[in-house]
Amino acid sequence: MTQQSESTSSRSATDAGVPVDPRPSRPAQATPPVEPIHPIHPTHPTHSIHSIHSIHSIHPTHSNHPIRPLPPLPPLPPLPPPPSPRPLGEGRRWPRSFADRLTAPLPGVQAFARFAREGATRPDAEGLADIPLLPFEPGPLPRPAATDIAVTWVGHASWVVGIGGLTVLTDPVWSRRILGIPARITPAGVAWAALPRVDAVVISHNHYDHLDAPTLKRLPRETPLFVPAGLGGWFRRRRFRCVTELDWWEATELGGVRFDFVPAHHWSKRTLTDTCRSLWGGWVLTDPAGRKLYFAGDTGYGHWFTEIGRRHPGIDLALLPIGAYDPRWWLSDVHCDPEEAVRAITDLGASRLAPMHWATFLLSAEPVLEPLTRVRRAWTEKGHHRDDLWDLPVGASRVLGSAGERSEQAALTERAGRAESTEQAGRLS
Ligand code: ZN
Ligand code: ZN
Repeated sequence: MTQQSESTSSRSATDAGVPVDPRPSRPAQATPPVEPIHPIHPTHPTHSIHSIHSIHSIHPTHSNHPIRPLPPLPPLPPLPPPPSPRPLGEGRRWPRSFADRLTAPLPGVQAFARFAREGATRPDAEGLADIPLLPFEPGPLPRPAATDIAVTWVGHASWVVGIGGLTVLTDPVWSRRILGIPARITPAGVAWAALPRVDAVVISHNHYDHLDAPTLKRLPRETPLFVPAGLGGWFRRRRFRCVTELDWWEATELGGVRFDFVPAHHWSKRTLTDTCRSLWGGWVLTDPAGRKLYFAGDTGYGHWFTEIGRRHPGIDLALLPIGAYDPRWWLSDVHCDPEEAVRAITDLGASRLAPMHWATFLLSAEPVLEPLTRVRRAWTEKGHHRDDLWDLPVGASRVLGSAGERSEQAALTERAGRAESTEQAGRLS
């Protein structure tokens, strides 16, 4: 498909809450939650100790009610062995639709009627007033050692990740404008020209705030791209030569770093006719020492977090979405709110949370600073250590060294020291 046909046919495919952009949503709050539909990878959400614990602990009002004893838990099914890495750039055939992976059905007539009646898709004037206060602190890009995991927040779901000596971009969107929504409210936190060579790109799904053709066109066509099943053709039509498509729970490897594609509670759509034709999900990146970074992409809260944590125990850092959640009746199936992101950290068994998917594009009705204030409050209320909330300003970086976390400045100083000693060694040899 050409760039032109895409832009003309899809006011529908950002995450914005416009009526032509259906998303899975419960039609009314009185309706009981729809049972998850996941015939291909069934899990047992109600069996999870994490889930049960967090469901009881997230709502303080529940503590006023007597807690009924829970029935004994049946054992979890045994873990399948980790999949062998698939070859890079492998050509594969996929089903025409991934609609059977939706957690909840796409919205029906009732939901659209309600959306037309009440749908607020942008913050009101008061909610916009804090735009000048959004945290924006661009700094130098760390150049991490191969044993470090470094993250720099470019804004929204775009990160520059240093892992295992590779530089990896997640959902890179450097454009000021994307289709169907106002221009970004904070600039990209990293100048494109400041990037080192990009060793790989991971893509979570095809919505316009995650898959940006103008940004991707800036990359050399031999850049390895890791993308969801069914999305490879989009890249190959743009002449990318090393595109690896993965299904949920599949993996591939590059330069000693493992890339696992994992499920998300979301959906896909880019044009009027391609709803759920490609998959959606997140990525777990594992360095040669076994340290793990999880990039969730776009996701609602649900049972997948527990299963991802079970299959990838010991996630060191989770990049989770905290914005684009209001109104909940319309967006809760596809976007976490801040409290749910904090709860997901427990479900995942992850050590640290770096929030994303806020402060960049206006996709929903919550006041622009609210995701940050709410995630900080929820983090503290849950008793997590403040240092483990990596609530980075747009443009800022943080480094997890092999011996633990260091500030960006310490990493820079250390690197300068390393460069000096390498230089000295060079002179001596
Ligand atoms: Zn999305
Ligand atoms: Zn999004």
